[in-house]
Amino acid sequence: MNTALLLMQVAAALGAGDLHTIQYSGSGFTYVFGQSYQPGGAYPKFRLTYTRAIDFDARASREQVTRTQFEEPPRGGGNQPLYREVTGATLSTDATPWGAGTVTLTPHGFVNAALANAATVRTVRTGGRTLTVVSFTGHRGFKVEGYVNAQHLIERIDTWVQNPILGETRIETTYADYRPVAGITFPMRIVQRQGGFPTLELTVSDVRPNATVDIPAPAPAVPARAEGHRIADGVWYLTGAPEPNSQLVEMRDYAVLIESSISEARAAANIAEARRLVPGKPIRYHVNSHHHADHAGGLRAYVSAGITLVTHEMNRRLYERPGLATAGTVWVKDRYVLDDGSRRLEIHHVPNGHAANLLMSYLPRERLLMVTDVFNDFGEPRPNDPPPGLVSPYYAALGERIRALKLDVERIAPSHGRDVVPAERLRKALEGTVQSPLRGRSGSL
Ligand SMILES: [Zn+2]
Repeated sequence: MNTALLLMQVAAALGAGDLHTIQYSGSGFTYVFGQSYQPGGAYPKFRLTYTRAIDFDARASREQVTRTQFEEPPRGGGNQPLYREVTGATLSTDATPWGAGTVTLTPHGFVNAALANAATVRTVRTGGRTLTVVSFTGHRGFKVEGYVNAQHLIERIDTWVQNPILGETRIETTYADYRPVAGITFPMRIVQRQGGFPTLELTVSDVRPNATVDIPAPAPAVPARAEGHRIADGVWYLTGAPEPNSQLVEMRDYAVLIESSISEARAAANIAEARRLVPGKPIRYHVNSHHHADHAGGLRAYVSAGITLVTHEMNRRLYERPGLATAGTVWVKDRYVLDDGSRRLEIHHVPNGHAANLLMSYLPRERLLMVTDVFNDFGEPRPNDPPPGLVSPYYAALGERIRALKLDVERIAPSHGRDVVPAERLRKALEGTVQSPLRGRSGSL
């Protein structure tokens, strides 16, 4: 098969030749990757309105997303339970890590990249049809494969990225219901899956070829850093970037770091700061609160430093396969206690809707609780703050667990937060009726 001829036929079928920019909008569902309720499970689902602008010549993209609560009862992360909508934008340019690769995962971006990158072709039989698979190595060495049908339209585009928790992860995007729109042919149905679970289900309602688009440069990545400040004798709150924060506890002969961090760079900054604050004692343990991407992305740094992982036993399959757990890993079910006579550190499982495997850490003598996601405190309003009189079911689960364990909490060090706060903040947040955002809305599902 003549590859160049095939790609010219695809470009002609799509109307890609004179397409420099595009803006398209629609609605459907989005799922927040890396925020599943169960380790290894599907990502939490949200209702979605969506607008994307692409500048093919500049290889830049901006996705604007508005999310509202869908799960009832709330299950998993992604800032659930959402009592109001959340808007956000994802910018991809040559300056961002995955960058221009995202443009290559669209049909019109794919065919132009294939023409520029020495593509090869093969045929596959699938579902009783023959499809032509176009493969090339694109931006920054990413392998990309597109499945072309008999009408020379691209039905599916795959790529593979390295994920710090999952290892090599496939991103699969399918395109269907192609229609002619203002001189091009565009898919009105777009579905994306990452690591085997859906992340996007979009029905396109508006397509504007060669629209005027203005895609700003993304903010530069924040360098990782960690600074400890003392919150009790031999206990530090490690603030810094990127979020979330960690905590450091000094025992008689060793130290314990709590929270595995969003990235290996932040984890390494935490480890360096712990060594500075507690010189001469090894960091023997680190406590991984749960499997979410912003709390487990740094795990490999602890493995490299020879620090023993303490995590919930539900994470065994997820962590053992990519080598994030070692033979010495402490698999916690309900409770694990470190007590060397100088200090007692209790690690407790918290049954709750955010993550089935969540662990919190408690220092009984200091009456200090270290916890994340079922209590956060940034000192400013958040979309998961319930209206006055209502209580988030995630917070309620924490309150119930504290009561059941009879913990005498005076202060809380939330990993998503700025500082240690009085436990009174949690008590206040638990005054009212426990109610999820969608409960009582008849017909909303
Ligand atoms: Zn979480």
